[in-house]
Amino acid sequence: MMKQEWHSSLHIAYSREVKQTAIKGETITMTTPTKPGLMGIFAHPDDESFGMAGTMKRATDAGHPVAIVCATRGEEGQIADPALATPANLGQVREQELRRACAAVGVTDVSFLDYIDGHLAEANEDEVIRKIVAHLRRMRPAVVATFDPKGAYGHVDHIAIHNLTLGAVWAAADGDRYPELGAPHRVTKVYYTAIPRERLMEMVTQARSQGQDFVPGGDEATIPVEEMGIPMAEITTILHLTDAEFDAKQNAIRAHATQMPADSPFANGSPEDLRRMMGTETLFLAPPPVSAQPFPAPEDDIFAGL
Ligand SMILES: [Zn+2]
Repeated sequence: MMKQEWHSSLHIAYSREVKQTAIKGETITMTTPTKPGLMGIFAHPDDESFGMAGTMKRATDAGHPVAIVCATRGEEGQIADPALATPANLGQVREQELRRACAAVGVTDVSFLDYIDGHLAEANEDEVIRKIVAHLRRMRPAVVATFDPKGAYGHVDHIAIHNLTLGAVWAAADGDRYPELGAPHRVTKVYYTAIPRERLMEMVTQARSQGQDFVPGGDEATIPVEEMGIPMAEITTILHLTDAEFDAKQNAIRAHATQMPADSPFANGSPEDLRRMMGTETLFLAPPPVSAQPFPAPEDDIFAGL
């Protein structure tokens, strides 16, 4: 008689239903297939919440496994309120903020790659890819989301995590690479979180009309506004959040308190403004060979076709 057991407790954590039957002293473990998973791979705490907290909430509500991998702890950033953290403990505080933000949308699988905020592009490429491959082969997500090639507004860490994630998606599928990290796994759909370029331009125009000089991404921007985000016409995937999804997203964003100055439009906007700014999430589904195959677009479900 075959003896079948899971070699990893992680598999059990992800299985929806595990039954054990003792037959003649042997254990046969059976499991129903899990729903396809989503892994978000980003550079800093808060990237995931602005980009796709509502998408994560919808996924966890429907029983999809969701994980977040974050390359740094955002420890070099500005502290919005000095009562919340010091430069010395900012990384620890932001780790907890990310965990709370993820919990607000039902995500408990949160991992850090332990790189230095602002310096991801200088890290050893093979080492980073190896770490991401380990996460991809452990969780085996059908869907991965990361930044677009220009890192939304040209943030060097965002561009780096885009390139490293694509390198890891490729490497994870190649059985000759890192065989010690487990069986190869091919991610089926790769998404880029996509701020519509038109929305960014509109925000800049509006600020200028009020005499303010507003640049999306602030000091971290390295490209002109005209090149930021992704043109609306190229966006493949639009999720209009329900009230419950939108509320959960608000809670996720507020969990990043050290990144939320009191005058932030995300902290003190009117309910209508907040809904308009964040009530819809937009993603770009990368065509093959980044994704494993083409899918029809537009779509309103990241798991469509799986
Ligand atoms: Zn970021």
